[in-house]
Amino acid sequence: MNSKKILITGGAGFIGSAVIRHIINNSNHSVVNIDKLTYAGNLESLTSIENDPRYTFEKIDICNSIKVSQIFNMHQPDLLIHLAAESHVDRSIDGPAQFIQTNIFGTYSLLEATRNYFVGLSVEKKNNFRFHHVSTDEVYGDLEVEGNLFTEKTSYSPSSPYSATKASSDHLVRAWHRTFKLPTLITNCSNNYGSYQFPEKLIPLMILNALEGKKLPIYGNGKQVRDWLYVDDHASALLHVALNGVIGETYNIGGNNELQNIEVVKTVCGILDKLAPSQLDGINKYEQLITYVDDRAGHDFRYAIDATKISKKLNWKPNETFTTGIKKTVEWYLKNKGWCDRVKDGSYQGQRLGVVS
Ligand code: NAD
Repeated sequence: MNSKKILITGGAGFIGSAVIRHIINNSNHSVVNIDKLTYAGNLESLTSIENDPRYTFEKIDICNSIKVSQIFNMHQPDLLIHLAAESHVDRSIDGPAQFIQTNIFGTYSLLEATRNYFVGLSVEKKNNFRFHHVSTDEVYGDLEVEGNLFTEKTSYSPSSPYSATKASSDHLVRAWHRTFKLPTLITNCSNNYGSYQFPEKLIPLMILNALEGKKLPIYGNGKQVRDWLYVDDHASALLHVALNGVIGETYNIGGNNELQNIEVVKTVCGILDKLAPSQLDGINKYEQLITYVDDRAGHDFRYAIDATKISKKLNWKPNETFTTGIKKTVEWYLKNKGWCDRVKDGSYQGQRLGVVS
């Protein structure tokens, strides 16, 4: 395999760090990681590869196109995978402004810096260059209880400020392809879970709250359905699409694991019962900590991905089932409480995902 230099934005986040570990551990490509290190960015997720000569980190805001252009000129990347974003729906409801800034303006700014770099490339380098934009299935809005799946042709109908900003960024990327002939790719992926996920998201929050004997807050009736994908599977899909996808195309990525939120939480509780039995007063099973809280405003009911295109056209499939992936995930959080404590020492104090009165 020809070795490529891959520019990754948001590589200190949950999925970005998994992509970087995947590239360094499983290929001969090199990585330049640009990340602003917001509350969600954590370089400790990259300690296993940080000393590899094929890895470089630059602390940069993607909205700063001058700095980003300097990075392009200095490192001369062969392709780019864009993950930097504000990513938490609850935060987008409390304060949409940062989402508009990073997800929309930041993507615009990055597209312009990339375009300036792209026009100056040799013909051979131009032919191989790709701008791969990483997006979410939430841009499609929600689905009925059963039946339909999101395909790459499903109309956009975002519900939250987060998904609206991601939808906007997808539109910008398509426009830069159509108008300026920038060689772009887009992937829209379902909910990810796995190691190094910031503890405000559903699965890590439930694991850590349970271990501390805190309530497990479930929005509404807990019957919202999500399609869960193990983060290392997403990482392998992203590199595969970046290297083999057809320019201008969109690929949905999913895990074929549709589950209600309450099923996910009960599964986590069941694994914890076996691996770290409760020593809490009056709690024999962690499920007893489940508490229903007011539903999130505008909460989408069901997301489900049709991943036929990536499977048939690019021959990619996930390795993990939910049963295998969730076990690995709970085991990781049990072994890495130090990482969680250090992340939680910072700006995040576990207060998100519904208020338990
Ligand atoms: P995350 O919040 O864990 O990480 C985001 C990273 O981006 C952080 O390291 C942060 O410091 C960085 N960042 C934020 N603003 C920046 C800026 N202005 N300049 C440079 N860096 C900045 O997010 P994640 O869960 O890893 O998601 C990564 C991408 O994948 C996002 O684009 C998200 O929309 C998309 N996605 C996520 C999921 C999921 O389930 N987590 C599913 C589908 C798609």
